[in-house]
Amino acid sequence: MDPQRLIQCPFDKHHQIRAYRFPYHLVKCRKNNPEVAKTLDTCPFNARHLVPHAKLKDHIMNCRDKTLMEQDIANQACDHQQKQVNDGSTWQAPPCDEDWDKEALEQAESAFVWGMTNSAMSR
Ligand SMILES: [Zn+2]
Ligand SMILES: [Zn+2]
Repeated sequence: MDPQRLIQCPFDKHHQIRAYRFPYHLVKCRKNNPEVAKTLDTCPFNARHLVPHAKLKDHIMNCRDKTLMEQDIANQACDHQQKQVNDGSTWQAPPCDEDWDKEALEQAESAFVWGMTNSAMSR
């Protein structure tokens, strides 16, 4: 958003406020115009959007920040899923240094072969 863009104050049509000053002006102007503030609703998608009660429905239908917010929610859900996957993969099976079964088998085989050779030679 262009910070130099002029936005019309929802409390007073004669106020044209730079976008970067808008949040400050809203706080100030709301205090100066409590009666007007009562007639305005805050947009659920952007707290800077103050809309007259009667126009809130229309505004919600057309709010430019609605799609932005929906995208944010989608991204958050995506991040959450990603995090769960990462957490699951941090656990690893402890490394197995020695394979006892295989070693015992190799010893038995070599002893067997050695014994055969001995007996063959003794004949
Ligand atoms: Zn104002
Ligand atoms: Zn809005």
